[in-house]
Amino acid sequence: MSIETTTPGHLECLDRIAAVVGEPNLIVDRDLVAGYSVDWTRRFSGPAVAVVRPGSVAEVAAVLADCSAAGLPVIPQGGNTSMVGGSVPAPTGVPPLILSTLRLRRLDPVDDLAGAVTVGAGVTLAEVADHVRRAGWTYGVDLAARDTATIGGTCATNAGGIRVCAYGMTRDQVIGAEFVRADGSIISRLDGLPKDNTGYHLTGLMVGSEGTLGVITAVRLRLHRPVGTTTVGLVGVPDMAAALDLVESAVPEGERLLAAEIIDAEGIRLVREVAGLQPPLEQEWPYLLLLEVSGDWLELPADSDAVVAMDTATAARLWEYRERQPDAISALGVAHKLDISVPLPRLDQVATAARSCAPGDARVVVFGHLRDGNLHVEIAGVPAGDNELDRAIFAITAEAGGVLSAEHGVGRAKAQWLHLSRSAAEIDTMREIKRAMDPAGVLNPGALLPLS
Ligand SMILES: Cc1cc2nc3c(=O)[nH]c(=O)nc-3n(C[C@H](O)[C@H](O)[C@H](O)COP(=O)(O)OP(=O)(O)OC[C@H]3O[C@@H](n4cnc5c(N)ncnc54)[C@H](O)[C@@H]3O)c2cc1C
Repeated sequence: MSIETTTPGHLECLDRIAAVVGEPNLIVDRDLVAGYSVDWTRRFSGPAVAVVRPGSVAEVAAVLADCSAAGLPVIPQGGNTSMVGGSVPAPTGVPPLILSTLRLRRLDPVDDLAGAVTVGAGVTLAEVADHVRRAGWTYGVDLAARDTATIGGTCATNAGGIRVCAYGMTRDQVIGAEFVRADGSIISRLDGLPKDNTGYHLTGLMVGSEGTLGVITAVRLRLHRPVGTTTVGLVGVPDMAAALDLVESAVPEGERLLAAEIIDAEGIRLVREVAGLQPPLEQEWPYLLLLEVSGDWLELPADSDAVVAMDTATAARLWEYRERQPDAISALGVAHKLDISVPLPRLDQVATAARSCAPGDARVVVFGHLRDGNLHVEIAGVPAGDNELDRAIFAITAEAGGVLSAEHGVGRAKAQWLHLSRSAAEIDTMREIKRAMDPAGVLNPGALLPLS
């Protein structure tokens, strides 16, 4: 056993936890714990005392009750694909216990009558998608980290992704939740009644709470019927305003928009360099718009410079230009990965201003979920600790009427700037909710709400 420096009280707490979950599910080996202590971006990391892998809601409850009593901080972690340091410890402070949800693997049969399914927090997005597809349904949330991101993590961050324009955010899909409060009490509301007006919507409160209010152990998800055939196209556009105009006109009558993604020229250059992809169009454009619609064609103007996939292999190839963006910039080193939400008429203005914040030798790519006003501004070639760059871009975003996170959440990375997007009264209210749910302050301290 090799445990990060901790107090005798915390060590006794870990002994009790080992007795609850079984020794193999309390990981204390420093090298193994280190693997859980750095996030996907490699920008955020810190020491943890151990990793616990509870296998049931009762075990989660016992772990949290013990940690609250001992004052041992706990960081809930799913797939650890967070881009904002929310799933890993801070570099300073009391080393926390990481609570991995990956053994919470409940996967109930699809309820055809309700159009819903109940799944455990540790099941991945891809596993849920496969499970419901086999039963003739589709789940409304999809994103590039689908093979690793968990249902618990996507609920805790209210994840967005590529289908928001069709189905909404994760919050729109979650119709019930089972979760454990910091003191170990269990709240279970998995009935998923379509109408239930009996008081505060605690399920909704947990969605987007980023591990600060409780640990989600299972959720009831709303499902959708698949749309059938879809068509994917990539179109060159001069700017995002032109891309937005095209989005509206490209959807054939009676069909649905399923995705409207934007990638700038630098992002295309970078993904071609890193992934060896061919030029998608003959001409280079300031932006490429990726569209997916239901049905078997896209309504594009005759003079468009576009490629439209005629088969699923080509459609997958077109999606690669978009989905490989996060990996491509990370191949250059630890990148700043910002996820801003901007009013649609200001997208071009904010993208230009954000680029101008970066030093001349940095590489900046802008891509994202165009129809949702969600831009990912990712920058390589600046020190990981250069927080001033992030602050400047968040300030520009706020001045334009946007907010500093569209979908990744606040995490540890942006907590200090929450006031740019939320009023003092809102932050006070959030702190009061946090105190009520987690009086000992053990759940993910320093994430979402700045330490006071
Ligand atoms: C390549 C790539 C593409 C991505 N694309 C998108 C995208 O399009 N849209 C988008 O929204 N995000 C995207 N992300 C970010 C990330 O995938 C999401 O934030 C996802 O929701 C995180 O899920 P996770 O299981 O990895 O959670 P983690 O990273 O483990 O945790 C995220 C947060 O949730 C908390 N948490 C995790 N599980 C629980 C639980 N059971 N109960 C309570 N709290 C919990 C953690 O404490 C942390 O604060 C992307 C990430 C990558 C790497």
